[in-house]
Amino acid sequence: MVGVSYNKSLVVGVLALQGAFSRHQDALTELGVATRQVRTPQDLEAVNALVMPGGESTTMSQLLESSEIFEPLAKRVEEGMAVFGTCAGMILLAKKIIDGRDDQTPFGAIDIEVQRNAYGRQVDSFEADIDVDSLKSPFHAVFIRAPRIASLGSQVKVLAYCGEDVVLAQQNNILVASFHPELTNDIRLHELFLKGV
Ligand code: GLN
Repeated sequence: MVGVSYNKSLVVGVLALQGAFSRHQDALTELGVATRQVRTPQDLEAVNALVMPGGESTTMSQLLESSEIFEPLAKRVEEGMAVFGTCAGMILLAKKIIDGRDDQTPFGAIDIEVQRNAYGRQVDSFEADIDVDSLKSPFHAVFIRAPRIASLGSQVKVLAYCGEDVVLAQQNNILVASFHPELTNDIRLHELFLKGV
């Protein structure tokens, strides 16, 4: 690691309505920042940045509404809060969801169109080593019923591909991965995220 250029006094939230949030919290803790599970608008007010984990995006969408966190979160995102969306989290941050539920509203925070469960049943889950811009060695990426970025706007910066597909991308305050970076013991992508907060 080349020095530490992120602010350790940050409180980083992990959206904990549903899904794979606890290993994200472990990775962030290992990086030395305080974390907080976010389930309510009050929790959200207490954090400087947010990880939106993988899970089931349709369920998360419903829970975001029922917990009345959708609106305040949309506002924070628009104000520039740094958010790292992984897998289902990426789906929710997209501008458009393909094969989503009819009543599923994404945040539209990053100019990508995302297709849910795009890799088909036979390869519901797979793993691959990917080269990430700015990392010196490959990152082992775990894809679980992964979404695929079907298209992206010119303002979106591509940080990694898997084959032909963009799997890690960034636009301003928003970082998204179509895989689960928390499932390996490699904390470099969480570190990359914190550097951008
Ligand atoms: N298929 C899930 C969805 O549509 C995402 C999978 C994941 O987050 N691992 O929400």
